[in-house]
Amino acid sequence: MSDINPCMTCGACCAYFRVSFYWSEGDDAYGNVPVALTEPVSPFLRCMRGTYQKDPRCIALQGEPGEATCCTIYENRPSTCREFVMSGENGELNEACLRARAHYHLPPLYKDPPILTFPDAATDELSRVQSCA
Ligand code: SF4
Ligand code: SF4
Repeated sequence: MSDINPCMTCGACCAYFRVSFYWSEGDDAYGNVPVALTEPVSPFLRCMRGTYQKDPRCIALQGEPGEATCCTIYENRPSTCREFVMSGENGELNEACLRARAHYHLPPLYKDPPILTFPDAATDELSRVQSCA
């Protein structure tokens, strides 16, 4: 099995779901998410710009899903992104990850993969797309 974090060649979840979060995560309130990259959903919710449309794609996503992708605001991404885990991580199946991958014709990441270590990944986290830095 490859040592490369599958998220680094995926990015499907950033171009499939509406990525919404509580408004105060914005950098005009108590958080760090650049408000200029968001749009309102309701009086209490914001989402990443581009994810509230028919064919969602987060404005902060760099690259093409299924190829090389990364997040241009990785350190300041919303909690929704931080909490979304890759299927197979910690032996847990994430149906949403699998659904997004399937949309881009990417193979499923199975529960309990034989090896799940990514020593070459330039990150201390395993989940989701990674930093572009
Ligand atoms: S969490 Fe799943 S869908 Fe999202 S980038 Fe990683 S492998 Fe792809
Ligand atoms: S991880 Fe980054 S690119 Fe992906 S949805 Fe979140 S903010 Fe957008």
